Amino acid sequence: MLDERDKKWLTYAAELAIKGRGRVHPNPMVGCVLVKGDRMVGEGWHQEYGSNHAEVVATTNAQADAIGSTAYVTLEPCNHEGKTGPCSEHLIKVGVKKVVFAASDPGVAAAGGAKRLKEAGIEVRGPVDDFSLGEGVDPAFFYSARYDHTYLALKLAVSEDDKIAETVGVRTFLTGEQANTEVHRIRSGFDGIVVGANTFRADDPFLTVRQLPYEPRVPPTRIVISSDGDLCTQSNLFGSIGRSPVLVIAGETTSANSINRLRSAGAIVEVVKCVGKRVDLVESLQVMWEKGLKSVMCEGGADLAQAFCALDLAQRLYLFRTGRILGPKAVPVFSEGPLPWNSNLWKQRGNEVNFGKDVLTIYDRER
Ligand SMILES: [Zn+2]
Repeated sequence: MLDERDKKWLTYAAELAIKGRGRVHPNPMVGCVLVKGDRMVGEGWHQEYGSNHAEVVATTNAQADAIGSTAYVTLEPCNHEGKTGPCSEHLIKVGVKKVVFAASDPGVAAAGGAKRLKEAGIEVRGPVDDFSLGEGVDPAFFYSARYDHTYLALKLAVSEDDKIAETVGVRTFLTGEQANTEVHRIRSGFDGIVVGANTFRADDPFLTVRQLPYEPRVPPTRIVISSDGDLCTQSNLFGSIGRSPVLVIAGETTSANSINRLRSAGAIVEVVKCVGKRVDLVESLQVMWEKGLKSVMCEGGADLAQAFCALDLAQRLYLFRTGRILGPKAVPVFSEGPLPWNSNLWKQRGNEVNFGKDVLTIYDRER
């Protein structure tokens, strides 16, 4: 069991870790805190792909105070020569006395850090049985490493009464400026952002990352799922194709003409089979994985999110809830099936966070 003190420091390490969002993947986001007694003597996080790991940043920050300290790390210290030396050897060298880590390394190459530290006589605790402190810090990293499958998150914005729009086919702007900026921040940590063709037509979205003080290291690929490939190329998405790639996943009935038209406009087009009138979403995720997209967020529409949920393909939900009530005639977020936030298969992660008048709640699909 984790005592309150350990939990406090690991929670802080987890907060540090996510500062690396958008800049470190496909590496994991990792945070590290060095503590002596009740005093923090060093802190750090993995800031940039290819740069020093969190443990090295924290021990450098602590300087001589690292000797005899306890290191709290969100992830088991690595044990392999990657772009930087192994953190296990580094922690041994600087004289850390104890290491508490939240999640085990899922990879074969980097694993074995805890074992190495113990062999060197360092007291080691971990992994801890708390998803939010360990794998929950960067669930896409662990999920994709474990299952060789694209990690899919959903973003939904709903009214107080679980509605998404006042009228069918008309976009209702539910969330305010602060929540919208947070969406860009969340986007920056994903390899891809996916929408359905109806959302593409109704919203004419860019799906780029904007409004942030940093640029994502690799801008997310914009993905549109369309059964017939009938997408207007005089749109914001295609107009900004120089900023980040566009991938169209088109149904098998898409004509050769449409495919050529989309490719001429600069899109990558992949054709998949259909199930009924809808593009096969299982195969769509397979295509994303083969394109190297390890983490993807679906930003609409709600019917696409519902279809992903019905197939149990989604792992996380970012739910933005506004205080507005749209009333009984408005469009419900899901036309059928349980809402994830009312289902016991999904578990709330952490606390609700306010962004202006809107509230973000994160739910993870329990596996
Ligand atoms: Zn490392």
